[in-house]
Amino acid sequence: MLNKESITVGQLATGQALDVPVYRYNQGRPGPKVYIQANLHGAEVQGNAVLLALLERLKTLEVYGEVTLVPLSNPMGINQKSGEFTLGRFDPVTGVNWNRQYLGDHIDVEAWLDANPELSGDALTHAFRAHLVEQCETRLVNPWGVSTGQHLCYRLQALAHEHDIVLDLHTGPKSCRHLYCPEILKAQASHLNIPCVLLMPNEFAGALDEACFHPWWQLQQALAKRGHNQAMAVQAYTLELGSQELIDIEAADQDAIGITSFLGNNGVIADAPAPAKMDRYACLLKDYRKLHAPGGAMVEYLAPLGEPLKAGEPLARLLKLEQIGQGQVVETLNLPQDAIPVLHFASAAVHQGTELYKLMTNYYKL
Ligand SMILES: [Zn+2]
Repeated sequence: MLNKESITVGQLATGQALDVPVYRYNQGRPGPKVYIQANLHGAEVQGNAVLLALLERLKTLEVYGEVTLVPLSNPMGINQKSGEFTLGRFDPVTGVNWNRQYLGDHIDVEAWLDANPELSGDALTHAFRAHLVEQCETRLVNPWGVSTGQHLCYRLQALAHEHDIVLDLHTGPKSCRHLYCPEILKAQASHLNIPCVLLMPNEFAGALDEACFHPWWQLQQALAKRGHNQAMAVQAYTLELGSQELIDIEAADQDAIGITSFLGNNGVIADAPAPAKMDRYACLLKDYRKLHAPGGAMVEYLAPLGEPLKAGEPLARLLKLEQIGQGQVVETLNLPQDAIPVLHFASAAVHQGTELYKLMTNYYKL
């Protein structure tokens, strides 16, 4: 059964409400609750196609629990056009990244446990979940108000907190598939068909995946200190599925298959396909490095994305037109150490210091 609802995440100056569609799919069997959101960054549209493909796949499979699909999650960002491009990564008024405005770091888990000494097991999970949702809702109605971005994020987060598994679908600028995975959940990464895995520390920096898993990690730690072992009730990831400003229906279907494998491993789908046999590489987030343009230039990007390269191999050719008749016009930029290029800047015209590539270093095979 498929139900459609919507949530209101903001209001324009001209009065129109900004609504986000929410589709809930289930086959009437008990099981985990899954939340999958797409397109929080305006130009990162491919996740919408993945949700569509996933819904079609789910209809052919034996599903337990409920899958909530939230496409087009940032109407303001998606409609933020400049010329032929979508901006949509930062709130145009404040300059703040839309995906750094979720609520976190605000929960005193020790104090909450002290105030609820009678709770354990499922009752504790249930009450803590309600507490997280309430924190978002309380912030939304506080008399000082919240920013436009916080309004959007807290509304989405309150919904996401109702679920056990949270997947936030993004893309890079020009990018291969990669996954942001909490270090403590890295065993799960092999169940997604994503070659590059960035292992995040158990910290909060404002993104949805962190906002969803971090309080549960804190709860687990606090319980362990009190002598109780309780598994983390919630897992959350960010999936970066290809490049921005691009819909690729065939790739979307491949990603939908990968997500069904992952959901199969988590008890949501009984007859899910096995994960693909493929090379998967991981590195710590601190080893995911930016390579900045050494000077302003026109750039030809050379390095294949998602494949290991050796130090000294060419990454890009830099065309320095101001050097015509004076010096070297075409320079090759080589890789400073062994690495896997994961994404590169979207434009071929770069200033000195532009983040040209992001690369995995000190990586290993999962
Ligand atoms: Zn993004």
